[in-house]
Amino acid sequence: MPSKTFLSHPEWVQGQCGCGIIKFEIKYPARWAYHDHSAATRTLMGAAAMTYVGSWRKRFRIVEGKEALSDYRDDEKGITRRFCIECGSPVAYERDASPHMVNIPRGLFQEGVGREPRYHVRRGEGPDWAYTGEKIGPLKGYPSVLYERPRKKSKKPSEDDMF
Ligand SMILES: [Zn+2]
Repeated sequence: MPSKTFLSHPEWVQGQCGCGIIKFEIKYPARWAYHDHSAATRTLMGAAAMTYVGSWRKRFRIVEGKEALSDYRDDEKGITRRFCIECGSPVAYERDASPHMVNIPRGLFQEGVGREPRYHVRRGEGPDWAYTGEKIGPLKGYPSVLYERPRKKSKKPSEDDMF
């Protein structure tokens, strides 16, 4: 990870969507970074969790490609999710309840943002299929794939067995 002094603009850290049309930056350091395990994020992103960088809105700016930015608005939840219309990358997630903050997927930054994702939001909503650090090993014949052995079944009878 490059140190802050090697950034092209030490004050700002740049990120971009998957296809690179949309470029944005936040002022260094970010406010915080966290893993979002919420069911709302899972169903919209299709992932077990998303890692976000939270920035003050006034320290976030779109540098290029504003015209490629679209949004999905959920009035009921008071949430706006912005994404690239070309590649579909999520670019920002904003909550009415936190009008001064913008949340940006951590994976869109190549450089350090000044905050490590040490927080877990709505961990209890995470799915039972999420990877949580179980032991994994190589899968024969597939060098880029690691494999998690199935969990051993409990010997304790379940409620279904009792009735
Ligand atoms: Zn894009």
